[in-house]
Amino acid sequence: MSDPVLHEVSMHLVLPNEPVKGTIVSNELCMRGKSSSYVRHVSIDVSGTPLEGNFRSGQSFGVFPEGLDHNGKPHKLRLYSIASASCGEDGEGKVLSTTCKRLIDEYEAQTDREDSEQTGLFHGICSNYIADRKPGDEILVTGPAGKRFVLPVETEKHDYLFLATGTGVAPFRGMVKDLFEGTNSPCCSDVHLVIGTPYTSDLLYDDFFEEIDAAHPNFHYHRVISREVPQEGDRYGHGYVHHYLDKSVELHQELLQRDRTLIYICGLAGMQTGVFKTLATQGLGESYLKLKGESAEIDPADWQEKDIRRWVRPTHRCMLEVY
Ligand code: NAP
Repeated sequence: MSDPVLHEVSMHLVLPNEPVKGTIVSNELCMRGKSSSYVRHVSIDVSGTPLEGNFRSGQSFGVFPEGLDHNGKPHKLRLYSIASASCGEDGEGKVLSTTCKRLIDEYEAQTDREDSEQTGLFHGICSNYIADRKPGDEILVTGPAGKRFVLPVETEKHDYLFLATGTGVAPFRGMVKDLFEGTNSPCCSDVHLVIGTPYTSDLLYDDFFEEIDAAHPNFHYHRVISREVPQEGDRYGHGYVHHYLDKSVELHQELLQRDRTLIYICGLAGMQTGVFKTLATQGLGESYLKLKGESAEIDPADWQEKDIRRWVRPTHRCMLEVY
């Protein structure tokens, strides 16, 4: 079994009490088609700050949105995944990027203390702040943060299964760039990326991943769509990411049985439940999951979400980043 030696990373070079100014370089939609959601690829110039040259794909950085909260205090810091390669969008570590989805929601009182009469839409504070910025605008940034969700030093020693839901694909854009467009690339390892989105129009960076798939026989791009009716002969999986793993187990079994494979999971909180259960029921969990307490005695097919949360933990060969 080969545990990965992950890259050493810089952490917290810019602290929240002394954020630095980054400048927006570009801000564009990065979805495949017209959709009811809006996701933008936003690039930020951090040259001349401690962040320059000191971030890696898979890490995150902080943003302070302008303005005050409902208590009249400055808004708190929000973290965003870095979507660029470790050498940045510019190849010199001066420009990092992120994948920012606008949050648009409806008021609905959650507790008795909230006003049940209030109606209308509200907008997420920071996602809309970032999505509204134009090239040349300055924003306050911090970071970098995160040390566990990064690629190993010797990338060739491992094969990879990347699992994403929605904007959880952000770190994988950077990692795929590192693996196939970086200085020691293209990498010869097997790399599978599975992304789950509601509709095909919500797929993110789809052209980029298709290009890498077409150019490199060892990169495999899998799309799994949850809300469209399957069509005869279409090229997508249907359902959730773990349903796809389950159904296409013959595709992934051999990859997951290798003692060099690493799994990275990023996206919706809760997606690990289905993935862990699928791995365990398929008899593929041993290298990726540590079972504690009672879970070892329960048939994985009977695992409930609470059992998984309580008893199942990822090993060093399974990186988990879910919000
Ligand atoms: P989205 O476009 O709505 O896509 C999410 C997909 O996952 C949909 O197809 C959804 O299906 C499906 N899904 C829902 N519940 C699931 C489950 N339990 N297991 C597997 N799949 C499930 O996604 P999004 O709005 O971009 O949200 C992405 C999430 O990733 C956000 O919560 C964000 O905070 C998080 N994120 C985390 C990081 C990080 O940790 N560094 C980075 C970026 C994003 P249906 O909607 O049809 O049910």
